[in-house]
Amino acid sequence: SNIIAIVGRPNVGKSTLFNRLTESRKAIVDDFSGVTRDRHYGKAEWTDKEFTVIDTGGYVANSEDLFEAAIREQVVIAIEEASVIIFMVDVTTGITDLDDDIANLLRKSKKPVFVVVNKVDNTALETESSVFYSFGLGEIYTISSMTGSGTGDLLDEVVKHFEDIQEEENTLPKITIVGRPNVGKSSLINALIGKDRNIVTPIAGTTRDSIHIHYNQYGHEFMFIDTAGLRKKTKVKENIEFYSVMRTIKALEDSDVVMLMLDAEEGLESQDINIFHLAEKNKKGVVILVNKWDLIEKNDKTMKAFEEQIKQKLQPFTDVPILFISVLNKQRIFKAIETALEVQKNRSKKIPTSKLNDVLLPIIEAYPPPATKGKYIKIKYITQINGVAPMFAFFCNLPQYIKEPYKRFIENKLRENFDFSGVPIQIYFRQK
Ligand code: GDP
Repeated sequence: SNIIAIVGRPNVGKSTLFNRLTESRKAIVDDFSGVTRDRHYGKAEWTDKEFTVIDTGGYVANSEDLFEAAIREQVVIAIEEASVIIFMVDVTTGITDLDDDIANLLRKSKKPVFVVVNKVDNTALETESSVFYSFGLGEIYTISSMTGSGTGDLLDEVVKHFEDIQEEENTLPKITIVGRPNVGKSSLINALIGKDRNIVTPIAGTTRDSIHIHYNQYGHEFMFIDTAGLRKKTKVKENIEFYSVMRTIKALEDSDVVMLMLDAEEGLESQDINIFHLAEKNKKGVVILVNKWDLIEKNDKTMKAFEEQIKQKLQPFTDVPILFISVLNKQRIFKAIETALEVQKNRSKKIPTSKLNDVLLPIIEAYPPPATKGKYIKIKYITQINGVAPMFAFFCNLPQYIKEPYKRFIENKLRENFDFSGVPIQIYFRQK
């Protein structure tokens, strides 16, 4: 999606603006990096346009000596990743040296830059804001991110710079490989694509940061959404947390199925779990690949034990294929592709209403939702709602009385009777 990056030195009010823009959409990405408690990456919308906001400041190291370098990196990355950059300054301090440094970097950017003067809480301050024209970055926008004044006008202008995200014409499944550095993502892509790298087509527009690889071999056809190849080209240090987070999120949003790759020697860590939940929230299919299986000493119980351990950590969404692979030995790497494609089939599966009712209504009759406040809850009719991922509506007399455990019971029954392996399911209870 389109990305707005907010850059600026500390304390100018970046996170206040960030919170203001994203507060209506809090649910999407919480605590994604797994490192910091704060949320610096969120979804927002304005006049029907959805976009992503990044508060780059949240990722700057706190240590004093790292400071300037960190801010510099923050800006470089914003220039590279964002569709639009908001350069925030503070009217109460005027222009500082650090502001000047940032402005110098931004002048070299080809991305649209909006100079946003914050803390303009009255008309006297409005007049003082004019000093910021001296950056030579064009129009300035005065706001008070505390009260929200000015942000509407700012957003009206910002959204004009968004690129049109065209729905891609082709309907091929889109698959991406995500995972921590060095788990073997690039190796897998290389193993599958080999020398055919010339089929790699960079996609223009907002997805310029990922490349789409048209895979069409051995009877399988799909698009690989790859960011790994491009990562190597940049001068920016790879270990910057949010850098890879941004790429991961973008690739994930662009895909139908996410192959989450782990290193068998390290197992499933909190960052992996965060990615997993992000995929789940975004209703993407998921396959877990435990790579470097060749390095593990094993007997006939190892795989099962490993699988159980992983599923334990994935609760409650555990109906996910887990494959043990070795890219090095080319072990089960085609199986991985086949599984991902099956997951996409499950994800786009439509179950006829009659079949759904024939199968589930008898189960519901035998195990009805518990009566609440002396009232019986009666589920009468079930139907699948059209969408990119499976959604089901259960029509009943008192939907508000249906609790989480029953919902989970229903989900399990759906999964037992219809194959939804690797796919998050949405269940809604509604009044007729
Ligand atoms: P990426 O950062 O996730 O793209 O990881 P790379 O593909 O660059 O792989 C990191 C390292 O792991 C490289 O040294 C690979 O050769 C090694 N590697 C990848 N897959 C395997 C595997 O199945 N077994 C073993 N033993 N090493 C692997």
